[in-house]
This record gives sequence, structure tokens and C-alpha cells, in this order.
Amino acid sequence: MRPAVHDAVLTDKVAGHRVVIVGAGFGGLFAARFLKRAPVEITLVDRTNHHVFQPLLYQVATGILSPGAVSAPTREVLRKHANAKVELGDVVDIDLVEKKVAVVRPDGRRAALPYDSLVVAAGVTQSYFGHDEFAEWAPGMKTLADALVQRQRIFGAFEMAELEEDPDARRAWLTFVVVGGGPTGVEISGQIAELARRALKGEFRRFDPVDVRVVLFEGGKEILASFGNRLSETARTTLEKIGVEVQTGAIVTHVDADGVDVKDAAGATKRYRSKTTIWAAGVAASPLAKVLANASGAELDRAGRIKVESDCSLHGHPEVYVVGDMMNFDNLPGVSEVALQSGIHAAKTIRRRLAGKEPEAFKYYELGSMAAVSRRNAIVSIHGLRLSGFLGWMLWLFVHIASLTGFKSRFKALVGWTLSFLGATRTERAIVTKLPKGAIDEHP
Ligand SMILES: Cc1cc2nc3c(=O)[nH]c(=O)nc-3n(C[C@H](O)[C@H](O)[C@H](O)COP(=O)(O)OP(=O)(O)OC[C@H]3O[C@@H](n4cnc5c(N)ncnc54)[C@H](O)[C@@H]3O)c2cc1C
Repeated sequence: MRPAVHDAVLTDKVAGHRVVIVGAGFGGLFAARFLKRAPVEITLVDRTNHHVFQPLLYQVATGILSPGAVSAPTREVLRKHANAKVELGDVVDIDLVEKKVAVVRPDGRRAALPYDSLVVAAGVTQSYFGHDEFAEWAPGMKTLADALVQRQRIFGAFEMAELEEDPDARRAWLTFVVVGGGPTGVEISGQIAELARRALKGEFRRFDPVDVRVVLFEGGKEILASFGNRLSETARTTLEKIGVEVQTGAIVTHVDADGVDVKDAAGATKRYRSKTTIWAAGVAASPLAKVLANASGAELDRAGRIKVESDCSLHGHPEVYVVGDMMNFDNLPGVSEVALQSGIHAAKTIRRRLAGKEPEAFKYYELGSMAAVSRRNAIVSIHGLRLSGFLGWMLWLFVHIASLTGFKSRFKALVGWTLSFLGATRTERAIVTKLPKGAIDEHP
């Protein structure tokens, strides 16, 4: 029989202790890394083969960085971790009684992964606040695949505008709507505006990219509300300077193929024609949170995140940890530092329990927040220190280089930033066009 997590001691006997980790994001990957050399057998399962640095996805969408610059193959990251194996699969169920994780492989086969300890770090998905039908016209940006879809839509819109003879229809292709004034919405709207005004200058014949319209809608009173009034205002002014229209107190009530309906603070609804809407508002926890809550009686919050115990374990199941974006621990925000630190805490707790020690409570050390508003201009809030402009951007650059996983990713990112932020080029602009069936045969 395998040693129980609580009473085992750190001897060879625990070498077969099986740890299953769901998700190779910040939470899961850092849990795996901090179990290096622990006497455990780790299986890390993810539906993709890579770890992705989500904070830079918007730069893939706007042609600054390649997918390889913001991601790293998970098995390469863990190749020197002899106690860890990586498996591709979609986790569809978790049996807390039998202690098994049900996985569907890419070829459709099902498998069950038995565990002694389990770390669930499956993150969040986009929330449309009860309007999932918006997703078809306003996709979000959580994965590398999402960022590539956005790149296709953004660069495709410019191509379509060049083909359009009707000025109104062309205007709709050249209007970009971004929903949500958090860091992602701010960063992507700023980058679309700069793409048009700098990188695409002089490339089109039917229109001048300077005339592109980028509208950012935020339901609350200010954008980047968590940064505080002064930085919110600075971000707004910076965006407006580069041509982004910022509308606060504006709630998007409808999205379709031709635009959005927006209700303003006075309650009036206005229609905005646009062929490209990007959703950067709202998150909902992975459906696995509900699976765990139903099986354990743990509470879910409004975003479907699981309320965890003081050591990040699941209510009534000290062998199961829920970390990262899908956990609710004292209402901490869904940011990478929380995910990374809670993943490390779960790993440390597994080690402690195997060593017969009592678990310790999770303590979060806040490092601050930052957002790159435009080229060489970022806002930063760290423990009362508030920076903006070029100084903020230098700090942003330093932190992002340090945080990227793997030397190759850092190098690729630096090349992309040098070309885009010192020069005006966007090197990652390739899109795939779909010609109607038979078009090439008929028109050789
Ligand atoms: C566009 C964007 C910008 C952001 N900007 C910032 C920022 O500037 N600063 C900041 O601190 N934070 C930022 N964040 C938040 C930060 O990226 C997250 O807090 C962090 O990634 C959460 O880590 P996680 O491990 O909980 O989840 P994730 O990183 O989302 O990883 C979850 C993993 O689980 C896998 N998975 C999900 N479901 C399953 C399943 N059923 N089966 C198998 N695998 C599954 C996924 O493929 C993924 O690899 C941003 C997020 C986004 C989306």
C-alpha cells in the first residue's frame, strides 16, 4: 500500500508517491518545478504541449512577437526533472473517492491517472456574462490559439478594407472595438492604434491607416481601475494621444458580425459599426472547479472559482490543491504572481506532508502591477511607488524579460521588441487566407 500523505516520512518508501498536476500554466508548471528532486512521480497533464506567457499574448495578436517568443514546450522546460513526465490530454473529470483523474487523449481515447496528491491549476476561460453567443463575433484571448485568431482578424481587416469600394463598409473594417478596460484591453487597443499609425504607414492605396478608429469600452468609471486614479488617468491620456477613443461607463449589450450596441452611463444605447470586436472583459473558472465543488462541497464564488483552505487545499481533501486563477484565496486577483506563488506553495506542502510536517498557511507577497500602454510607455504600481512613461516602460521591459521562460523565448522577445519599439516594423504579420473552393482551378 502507498504511504498516506500525512503520516509518511521522507524515506525511500515515499518514492512512489504519485503527484498528478493538471495544467502547465504558471500554477501547474511552478508546482512541478518545485518538486524537482522530491521523492515523487509527477505526471503533468495539459491540453496543449506548451506553457504560455499570457501577459504577452496581445503582442502575438498585433504582430510584434511570434508564438515561440511567448511560449515554451512544457517537456523542454521539464527535461531535466527526472521525476516528471508530461502528457497531452484534456482532463474531463476528477474522482476524489477513487483518486483518479479522467483524461481524453487527442485521439479520443480515455485514460485514468491515479494520484496520491493532486494539483489542479486549469486556469480560467472567457466570460461573456451570460451571453456566450457573443463569442462568435468577439473572441477573447486566453490561449496561443486565441492570439493567432486575433492576429488573423486584425491583419485580415486591413486587407478587407483595401478591397472594399463602399466607404461605409470600409469604415466598418477599419473600426476596431475592444471590450474591457483592464490591462489586456488597454494594451491591445494601444497596440492596434500604433500598428495602424506607425507600422502600416504608406502600405495601402484605398485608405490611410492613420484614419483607423480604435474604441475601448469600459463598463466601470475608469480604465485600469486597480492601479488607482492617477495612473488610470495617465493611461487614458496616453491612449487618447495615440488615437484610441476611451469610453468609460459604457456597457456593451450586444455583439454581432457588423458591430456592437453600447449603453452609456445615461442609459442611452448607441450602435457602433465594426467588423472586429475583441473581448477582454470577464473571466469564468475552468469547469473543473465545479466538478471539484460538487464532489467536495467546497464553495464557488461568482466567477466559479473554488474557495480553498488556508494551505490552498480543497475542503475535506488535504491531498488535493487548487491553485492559480481557478482558486479563490482571500479574493486575491487572477494574476500570474498569485498563480506562481500558490503553485510553489502546493509543492512545498506536498513535501512537508511527505516529511511528516504540518502544512503552513499560504502567504501571498504582492509584487505590484504594470501595463504597457503604448510604445515605450508603461504604468507601474509597486507598493506605493507609481511610475509611468519611459521609466515605467524600462521596468516593464526588465520584468517581462526576467519572467519569460527559457533563454530562447527571451532572445526572440528582445528581437521583436527592438524591431517594433525602437523601429516601427511588425515582423509577425502572416495570416492564412481561405480562397473559395475551386477559385484557383477556375482562375489559373
Ligand atoms: C491576455 C492576458 C493578459 C494577462 N496579463 C497579465 C499581466 O499583465 N500581469 C499578470 O500578473 N497577469 C496577467 N494575466 C493573468 C495571468 O496570465 C494568469 O493569472 C495566469 O496565467 C494564471 O495561471 P494558471 O496556472 O492559474 O492558469 P493558466 O496560465 O491559464 O494555465 C492553465 C493551463 O491549464 C490547461 N488546461 C485548462 N483546462 C484543462 C483541462 N481540462 N485539461 C487539461 N489542461 C487544461 C491550459 O491549457 C493551460 O495550460 C493575463 C492573462 C491574460 C489571459
